[in-house]
Amino acid sequence: MTICLKNAKLCDARLWNVKADVLIEDGVIRDVGVGLAGDESYDLAGCTLLPGLIDAHIHMVSGGEDFDDASLKSWAQAGVLAVRDLGLGNGESADRYLAWLRTTAKPENALVVTAGQPVAAWGGYMHRMMGKENGIGVKTPAEAEAAIETQIQKGCHGVKIAMDYDMLDENTPQYTPETVRAIAAKAKALGVWCTAHVQMAKFLRILVENGIPEMAHTVLDPIPDDLLDEMVARDIPICSTLQPINVPRPPLPKEELDRMPPHMRETIAKIEAIDTAQQEKDAVDNIRRFHQKGGTVVMGTDTMRMTQQPGNARIPLRELHLLRQAGLSVQEVIDACTKNAARACRLTDMA
Ligand SMILES: [Zn+2]
Repeated sequence: MTICLKNAKLCDARLWNVKADVLIEDGVIRDVGVGLAGDESYDLAGCTLLPGLIDAHIHMVSGGEDFDDASLKSWAQAGVLAVRDLGLGNGESADRYLAWLRTTAKPENALVVTAGQPVAAWGGYMHRMMGKENGIGVKTPAEAEAAIETQIQKGCHGVKIAMDYDMLDENTPQYTPETVRAIAAKAKALGVWCTAHVQMAKFLRILVENGIPEMAHTVLDPIPDDLLDEMVARDIPICSTLQPINVPRPPLPKEELDRMPPHMRETIAKIEAIDTAQQEKDAVDNIRRFHQKGGTVVMGTDTMRMTQQPGNARIPLRELHLLRQAGLSVQEVIDACTKNAARACRLTDMA
């Protein structure tokens, strides 16, 4: 069965505003050219055709939400055909999630690949959330390897780890370099992707030097040139997530603050004092310098809490604008959302 989309203007990483026909056979693009014909034809004169996009960093659930596929439909309708879920945030194990995920595999939904639960340093960032076990906390390289093995056997597609302060606490436990190396080696041996949450250049260096093959964020402080060079030399892509850095965050209502213990109030005050406009500038500049050096940029938005805001599951215009601001050409931005994201997510048949 072949379908021919005729007379649309095509825009992808190579073509720009070129009028041509697209021939699709059993869901796969077979040919692009002039005067093509299929079993069924649709005249799309006056329309523009873009490739389906991939968002390589989202969270299907966070903060006690339950699973809901409204966002998957919304993404697909907006042209985001696949998303990579970088870690459950609702304190659930991967079992129920994976069972639910299998029920969402329908043509009207975006495809999901997932890390399942994040693998966290014991007591570290993402180990516990709101008093609940959230990530799988590990103390040793052997425990990290076992956690990865179990999750991949269950049906998760890759590995998400994190190096960060939890609630700005400088004493947050972190992985040892040995554990980072063991995680990278285990993911490589299993042939799955492995990406790290990181927002500070000092942690980025530890992750790069110990073999983590991809970063799930652009860090928020300037990355030294030698470290960028090292990332380019090792072919370590950065998943952009620029969009959520400088969004308006309304201050918490006073009654809510008054109910909090003093140390929580102090943390909230510190968070509210962060100059997020400067962080966005530094992050955009990191992408600019990384891209100029030949680094691979993957588009990801860190979109979360979809059941509360299904409107977030849409074409990520602000992320795309920020990538343009970082000096990527329009076609390089499309590469970041298609070819580069597909490679990072191991969706190579979509690349
Ligand atoms: Zn995230």
